[in-house]
Amino acid sequence: MLRTNTCGELKLVNKNEKVTLSGWVQRTRDLGGMTFIDLRDRYGITQLVFNMETNPKLCEAARKLGREFVIKVTGEIAERINKNLKLATGEIEIVVNDLEVLNTSKVPPFTIEDNTDGGEELRMQYRYLDLRRNVNRDNLKLRHLMAIETRKYMTSQDFIEIETPYLIKSTPEGARDFVVPSRMNAGQFYALPQSPQTFKQLLMVAGYDKYFQIVKCFRDEDLRADRQPEFTQIDCEMAFVEQDDVLNAFEGLAKHLFKTIKGLNVDDFPRIQYVDAMKYYGSDKPDLRFDMKFVELNDPAKGKGFQVFDSAELVVGINAEGCGGYSRKQLDKLTDFVRKPQIGAKGLVYIKCNNDGTFKSSVDKFFGQEELNRLAKQFNAKPNDLILILAGEKNRTRKALCELRLEMGSRLGLRDPNVFKPLWIVNFPLLEWNEETQCYHAMHHPFTSPKKEDFSMLENTPGEVRANAYDLVINGVEIGGGSIRIHNKQLQQRMFKLLGFTEEEAQSQFGFLMNAFEYGAPPHGGIAFGFDRWVALFAGTDSIRDVIAFPKNNAGRDVMIDSPSAISDDQLKEIHMRLDFNE
Ligand code: ASP
Repeated sequence: MLRTNTCGELKLVNKNEKVTLSGWVQRTRDLGGMTFIDLRDRYGITQLVFNMETNPKLCEAARKLGREFVIKVTGEIAERINKNLKLATGEIEIVVNDLEVLNTSKVPPFTIEDNTDGGEELRMQYRYLDLRRNVNRDNLKLRHLMAIETRKYMTSQDFIEIETPYLIKSTPEGARDFVVPSRMNAGQFYALPQSPQTFKQLLMVAGYDKYFQIVKCFRDEDLRADRQPEFTQIDCEMAFVEQDDVLNAFEGLAKHLFKTIKGLNVDDFPRIQYVDAMKYYGSDKPDLRFDMKFVELNDPAKGKGFQVFDSAELVVGINAEGCGGYSRKQLDKLTDFVRKPQIGAKGLVYIKCNNDGTFKSSVDKFFGQEELNRLAKQFNAKPNDLILILAGEKNRTRKALCELRLEMGSRLGLRDPNVFKPLWIVNFPLLEWNEETQCYHAMHHPFTSPKKEDFSMLENTPGEVRANAYDLVINGVEIGGGSIRIHNKQLQQRMFKLLGFTEEEAQSQFGFLMNAFEYGAPPHGGIAFGFDRWVALFAGTDSIRDVIAFPKNNAGRDVMIDSPSAISDDQLKEIHMRLDFNE
């Protein structure tokens, strides 16, 4: 038998028991007559002790063991003199009387410790060693638990998990497709799903009124820290529902995960209109862990001779409470921050609310005390508050102020990763104008239904049509998004036309779906959650790579298996492809 117990479970109550453990040598310490080894497995660490006096041969052997050797030991559990109460097994040790080396190990290229000395690239190359570290093991365990709790909850609500194919044709979610050449159909390609969108809608037509799936999706996009070319969604769809039904159902799932995984009871999620989110937070994924709402100032700020305000489409500010004592240097830093190219503001106007009730601002020349007071009132500002104002073109200014709000939130310690503020954003615009292509794109995807009240505006003022679409946002992160779908062929055709598809193009790409709509498609809607992001949020990390067992790097490469890589000429021939790099 290779083990009777794991390295994480033996306690003082097991004293004097004879056990066999197997695991990896975390570290070895020689203290005169004694050698101690920390033996590690998935469950924890147990201290082994070898005594030079009573068993010199065994002790010699133990001293020769290198880091990460795999060993099997048998011995008796003894009470430790120096107890380590930080360790679950810290009250006991194993007095070893038999040792077997199951396998040796080269010296690992970095230390298998919480504070490892290995850089990210190296750890990715040896991911199997990196995965031995606690932080990764804890993250993967969390991921497993979240998947299990999701399945439990969805099952309890009558949802069934149904697998949909990976070799399909394009599903437009706004990214490029990964394609797979077909050997049996020369010159033809499958696309990997950007999501199971069309299939889950077909399942609704088929009458499976509550579907979900924890599923891989593939999108060929430029990568960022929170993007991977393949990622996992909790994908869901329901029939005979309106927006509120979907939000209620999945608020239930979110609350279940908060409760079972985080031990938190969270309040009902606020539902904020998209237009209000943009107006008050400058973002469709506001971080509600703190308030600091935007206040628009066009009325009180314009017409005082200050050109920057007078010529701006929007003058808007926030109140950083308690920051009235900011120094010149701190204010300059904030100005530098908003001027960074990625933020894009031209400058920053401040009003300090002094403790004596007077004001000091960067626009004193144009605004007297009376007028500054009027501005400050809009924010309900108190003495020692600091008002920060940006001005310019509406959308850009809102975006810049959103960044400044987040920056101030961070500086003021208002973005505690252990506090969670979920909310729904509802009623997104249906379409987005794309300057480059000079046409409308679906903001969510082309299967999203416009709001019934807005149907009549589709052809004349498409830009103003609202969609029956919603996002779940937690702490400024978009965790999920979905919509009520179009289930009528004519409306779907109108939608494709708006998006610039010819009738033939729409028919050849999505005819299968529109045809299905002609056979009794029920009203339906759904949502998909970014599972990796949700796990990362609960794990308290910014990068989804930390919660994926074998992630790809920023260039979309798996540096461990060295993929993507070239394939042989024979393989190329088989799939009817020829590569000529000189062309
Ligand atoms: N398929 C959509 C997405 O991947 C989600 C949905 O509309 O249900 O974002």
